Amino acid sequence: MSRALEVKDLRYRYHDGKEALRGITFSVQEGECLGVIGPNGAGKSTILLHLNGLLPETLIDPPSVYVMGEPVSSGTVLSIHRKVGLLFQDPDDQLFCPTVFEDVAFGPRQYGLSEDEVRAVVEESLHRVGLPGFERRSPHHLSGGEKQRVCLAGVLACRPEILVLDEPTSDLDPRGKRELKALLKTLAATKVVASHDLELVLELCSRTIVLDEGVIVADGPTGEILADEPFMLAHGLEKPHSLLHRHPHGS
Ligand code: ADP
Repeated sequence: MSRALEVKDLRYRYHDGKEALRGITFSVQEGECLGVIGPNGAGKSTILLHLNGLLPETLIDPPSVYVMGEPVSSGTVLSIHRKVGLLFQDPDDQLFCPTVFEDVAFGPRQYGLSEDEVRAVVEESLHRVGLPGFERRSPHHLSGGEKQRVCLAGVLACRPEILVLDEPTSDLDPRGKRELKALLKTLAATKVVASHDLELVLELCSRTIVLDEGVIVADGPTGEILADEPFMLAHGLEKPHSLLHRHPHGS
């Protein structure tokens, strides 16, 4: 199996001096689904933004992030955007067009598809996220959960090899969560999912990294890490309900 993502000693400081990432190293195999968990402010979103070159400092030499073997650098950022689809935490950061159609069509149009192909891919993507026929609606008049699905449709429409999802269930009701989980399970793409929804992480991700204060404090099988109550509590997390009777190493 080859590596879809490789992050080597990634460090990042925001302009106000806040050191958000303090030497992060991990890799993700093709087809793997990696969970990223940690308390608020641990650096989860900052890592995800680096995975498709969205923070300008990512583009320095030597690169710290490799996507399908390609370094994320100023010369490769367009190809990286095509390979890595990023679903933002706040749908309002992603939606900026007057209609759902325009929003979902934005990515595919950039990649040179014909208008007929764009129409077909928008229709298919809206169908996959459970919003068929929403093309003419205004994204700004949708519910939070619907907005999140429109964003996901926009990401899927670009057919990325790697899907990076930041808190994908935060605006969804229980049925929306179930549907999203089922949808994500059907996607063959490599996935990185940052979430406080530990049941989601447990169900989707075979492996998880735990971040705290800009460093990785654990990297291993999701079930084992999440079942370790003292460890979870020490890092501002909780053992999920479904594991309450399970001990970290088996039984
Ligand atoms: P998480 O996603 O785990 O909640 P973030 O990656 O959002 O963590 O934040 C990591 C750290 O960087 C936090 O201390 C946060 O306050 C800080 N931070 C995040 N975004 C910015 C920004 N735009 N400017 C300055 N500091 C930021």
